[in-house]
Amino acid sequence: MHEETVIFPDDQGLMVMLVDDQAIVAERIRRDLLDSPQMDFHYCQDPHEALSVACAIRPTVILLDLLMPGVNGLDVVRTFRGNACTQHVPIIVLSTKEDPHVKAKAFAAGANDYLIKLPDREELNARILYHSRAYLARVQRDEAYRALRESQRELEQKNFELLRMSNIDGLTEVANRRRFDELIQEAWAHSRRTRSALALVMLDIDCFKPFNDHYGHLAGDDCLKRVAQTLQQELPRLTDTLARYGGEEFVVVLSATDLEGARRVAERLRQAVEALRIPHACSEAGDVVTISLGVAATHASASSQPQSLVAAADKMLYQAKHRGRNQVSSIDCILSTEAAS
Ligand code: GH3
Ligand code: MG
Ligand code: MG
Repeated sequence: MHEETVIFPDDQGLMVMLVDDQAIVAERIRRDLLDSPQMDFHYCQDPHEALSVACAIRPTVILLDLLMPGVNGLDVVRTFRGNACTQHVPIIVLSTKEDPHVKAKAFAAGANDYLIKLPDREELNARILYHSRAYLARVQRDEAYRALRESQRELEQKNFELLRMSNIDGLTEVANRRRFDELIQEAWAHSRRTRSALALVMLDIDCFKPFNDHYGHLAGDDCLKRVAQTLQQELPRLTDTLARYGGEEFVVVLSATDLEGARRVAERLRQAVEALRIPHACSEAGDVVTISLGVAATHASASSQPQSLVAAADKMLYQAKHRGRNQVSSIDCILSTEAAS
């Protein structure tokens, strides 16, 4: 028995591939490796098949003869380096020449090591082990990186989904109250920064309690979804955002929109819901589902708060209800402040 070879636990699956035209070299190396049971050995006599064989058997190290008839060994090295499945597989060049210039060219072409034929058995084993272990460590590291990147990507995707879910109302799939609270702050800041108008539309389904009582809660849910969908369709501008404020009450934030513009939007929403013609047998406002809307517009300033705009729109909604429902009431908060002062 030769000097002991230390076998690492991860020395499983070492695969040595030899590319050499001389079968006698292959026999010698096969024998040299017999004492290393963890190493598989594969001999490829035809250099033209070397790449396809390597891709099939996945060697952990390639022993490559530099001088073969009709083939430049350096070209074979370059071919291995240029192919994804052999790109990083260590290549030990076997040569009869102890010529520094040839060695330098072999390394320049992409070889990892250079041995003079026929190499000493112990040295050959040691080099094969060294290069195979380095290669397997690299493969493991790449795989770990890949797995890490994949789990990071999944995590990002889940976070994105969670964020989306935390902003969206489950029933109607429009922005929820939590998101509205952020939206109004953002719109308020934008209005202050750009000195542009900001309008709110608060709206509420008319006589929805009797609707639920008459048609049932599931029909009520369905009605809410259809109304929300219709409102959303009527608001194609990205700067106009619809949110479910609570129950059967919705709010629309209209950035860079003055009272006149907001009134027109509100009227369009009112008509769109009415046009759905969802039967309502016990409404005080007609025989189909309708909405009442309160509109308020302002220019955000340091001395006022977004809550004041919400309160004004809410007051107008109450007025629309009071005046008979299925209508729009509005107030210009700038004028009303000026009028009050
Ligand atoms: P008004 O015209 O004055 O607004 O009368 P209303 O009956 O619509 O108002 P009220 O506030 O008395 O009733 C609101 C109803 O909306 C009661 C509640 O059960 C119903 N509601 C709130 N949220 C939901 C929901 O998610 N699904 C269903 N089906 N009903 C809801
Ligand atoms: Mg209502
Ligand atoms: Mg209500």
